[in-house]
Amino acid sequence: MRQQIVAGNWKMNNDLAQTETLITSLKTKIKTSNAEVMIAPTFTNLWQAYQTLKGTDIEVIAQNMHFAENGAYTGEISARMLKSVGVKTVILGHSERREYFNETDEILAKKVDAALANDLRVIFCFGEVLADRKSGNHENVVGSQIKNALFHLQAWHFKNIVLAYEPVWAIGTGETATAEQAQDMHAFIRKTLADQFGHEIANNVSILYGGSVKPNNANEIFDKPDVDGGLIGGAALNADDFYAIVNAF
Ligand code: PEP
Repeated sequence: MRQQIVAGNWKMNNDLAQTETLITSLKTKIKTSNAEVMIAPTFTNLWQAYQTLKGTDIEVIAQNMHFAENGAYTGEISARMLKSVGVKTVILGHSERREYFNETDEILAKKVDAALANDLRVIFCFGEVLADRKSGNHENVVGSQIKNALFHLQAWHFKNIVLAYEPVWAIGTGETATAEQAQDMHAFIRKTLADQFGHEIANNVSILYGGSVKPNNANEIFDKPDVDGGLIGGAALNADDFYAIVNAF
């Protein structure tokens, strides 16, 4: 059975004290779960979060990293730095990174390589914008995002890859893809992987859905056969909401 995952992407929210408060609350609520539970605080709070959550079933993950090992990249963070503060998983390719920080498929392919070379697990995000959805081009866009950043990998790399389909038009907008739209796209993604890497790989990769998942819609979305969990933005900032979403499995 594929691993079910609920990951909270906190984005640029919560200072150190707020991080501690939210984590303490999550720690009290989330004792056991059918899904792997992860939270992604901002870089400056990773170590504190890691210390506070040590020994629990909540994993602390990072929102981004640079592809270089080290060097003259002012303001950037390397895979090794993440590992040194207890991080084992990194989100790459989030649409906000693509849009505001000009992260191209080419850059993302390098980041994926660097993460895997450092034994980090990658949650790789992609998704179409509204115009692509409206013009019926969404599968082409998603297919090429996957191809450009991941098709150069070897099949065995996929044990360390989780995919996150996040239609850009559904992120932070309150507008969610319907459970059917999510299922259709996830099935397409699995077929795309099967064609390139074989059915075994495709059937074992967890594919998360992200885009305005809330306690009131998580159940319906997670119920779909090719949806293996969620990447949660806004609702991950509220302990009760995140707990309810984790419990939707
Ligand atoms: C996200 O940023 O990955 C996300 C899914 O955000 P939201 O849940 O707020 O739409």
